[in-house]
Amino acid sequence: MTPPQERTDARPTTPLPSQDTSVRVLELAISGGLLPVLAQDTAIPGVVLTPHVTGKPLRFTGDWVLTHAASGMQLTLPGCHAHMIEAIEWLARRAGLDWNRPLEAVRADDALKIAHGELNLALWRAREEREPLVTARGSWVVWPPRWRIRYRGRVSAATYDSWDDAARRAAYALTEPDEALHLHPDAEIVRDTRPPGWGLRCASIHCHDSHFLADWADGCGPVMGPRAQLAADAAEEGWRDCGAGTWTCPECSRRYH
Ligand SMILES: [Zn+2]
Repeated sequence: MTPPQERTDARPTTPLPSQDTSVRVLELAISGGLLPVLAQDTAIPGVVLTPHVTGKPLRFTGDWVLTHAASGMQLTLPGCHAHMIEAIEWLARRAGLDWNRPLEAVRADDALKIAHGELNLALWRAREEREPLVTARGSWVVWPPRWRIRYRGRVSAATYDSWDDAARRAAYALTEPDEALHLHPDAEIVRDTRPPGWGLRCASIHCHDSHFLADWADGCGPVMGPRAQLAADAAEEGWRDCGAGTWTCPECSRRYH
């Protein structure tokens, strides 16, 4: 461990190079005055992410807001970090908006006025419902037909994503006589003619694309089956039905507060 004196000596004394950070100081325009806070640049030129402050004296609330960089004026309602990241995505999906202008120009632009109103209405609803403001994907996925191993007329109960996966398993079983499958080189890889049903994945943009409702009893692979069964299983496991075919996994559901 570094001795205390050396740690003190190693303390940086110069500001970080600007290319190494997206965080900078900005003056928020709060009713009654200007307040310096840290602001993070976003993918939207002219829009920054800032902590939400309120009260007298002003205090952090734990929420965040999107702020107009040129004026320090608050652009959105306060919300959790996940909702603010989604608000940035909401703006990014809306082409032709230029926030990177002085306040007077922004206020005179009807397209910005409409977008501002719609974003805040959508954000208010998302906050009320504790649901995503925008999603990355629909949650329902139809699985393509599965692959199996056939040997001497018997077809494996286990299924595989691809021919390669099944072949790899068959080759592995050949070299591992203690495994349940005892296959010979004449084993065949066959494909089901019908899809195995639906899968359910998390729609949140904060979630990994492959986060499917898992079958804990069967190797934690994705559950495949009829929609009604998956919906019941998902609800039981703490998934949240956000409507319009979108669900959030338990971990993401906790992000929206
Ligand atoms: Zn998720």
